[in-house]
Amino acid sequence: MTAAAVVYDDTFLLHDYPGHPETAARLRAITDRLATDPALRGLPATPAPDADVEMLRAVHTDRHIAGIEHAARGGGEWLDGDTYCTPQSYDVALRAAGAAMRVTEMVMGGESRSAFALVRPPGHHATPSQAMGFCLFNNAAVAARAAQRLHGAERVAIVDIDVHHGNGTQDVFYDDASVLYCSLHQWPLYPGTGRAAETGTARAEGTTVNVPLPPGTGAEQWLAAFETRVATALAAHRPDLIVVSAGYDAHAADPLAELRLATDTYAQVASRLADIAGELCGGRTVWVLEGGYDLDALAASVGATLQALEAA
Ligand SMILES: [Zn+2]
Repeated sequence: MTAAAVVYDDTFLLHDYPGHPETAARLRAITDRLATDPALRGLPATPAPDADVEMLRAVHTDRHIAGIEHAARGGGEWLDGDTYCTPQSYDVALRAAGAAMRVTEMVMGGESRSAFALVRPPGHHATPSQAMGFCLFNNAAVAARAAQRLHGAERVAIVDIDVHHGNGTQDVFYDDASVLYCSLHQWPLYPGTGRAAETGTARAEGTTVNVPLPPGTGAEQWLAAFETRVATALAAHRPDLIVVSAGYDAHAADPLAELRLATDTYAQVASRLADIAGELCGGRTVWVLEGGYDLDALAASVGATLQALEAA
């Protein structure tokens, strides 16, 4: 078993739109970093398969899936004010969800203790029935459902460290006590959900944990909130797998938000999550790329995450 592995596919570069912050250059910055960093060059990298559409249906409505395919096959269109769909986007999004399934298979099957899906487009704003916020299909939600339906996990936890609230992921699991969803995010900020009082439906009470943080929050306060709110919720939930919605836009250099994390903060979070997973679920963590829009900060922070996972 390897300590850490990466799933990546050049297909993810084909979804792109000139001038948009969610650009293929994000993934190029990350893969350039992995290729040139001696500590990361040896990391096993696996290509991604297409997602099994059945597993997409475990998260999204048939109408949503068909709608994305129709928009792409019809030549592409804007799905909302900031979410583009190009002629390639359905195929790319299907492959991204497939990468999320593949990292889940690797970790649940014992090939690697942790595995990181370096994917685009991101997923955590995609609801069961709607694309939004640069997201078409919800990759992290697909990973959680695949763990349960294909790999025998009963309880899964999703930890969302993107600076934005993952409204889509929250929607998918809001009524499901088997999947804990925890998010630390800037408040107020897009998409406007993620109040602390949003804690799940009556039968899933407490399995949604939202930690809104004010603009300017730095690493020390962020990590303290992680310990008091997220680490405790993880221990109570006793998951069989931890899925991380790995966004890097809480970095101080990010142009889209105002939290103040450092590159090293991401190494600390990765080490801590690996420790928690070691106590709760055999060390199993699956990482799925979400946001992160300063290319240098993104590449360095993903590198820091992977180094920490390799060392864990
Ligand atoms: Zn984000």
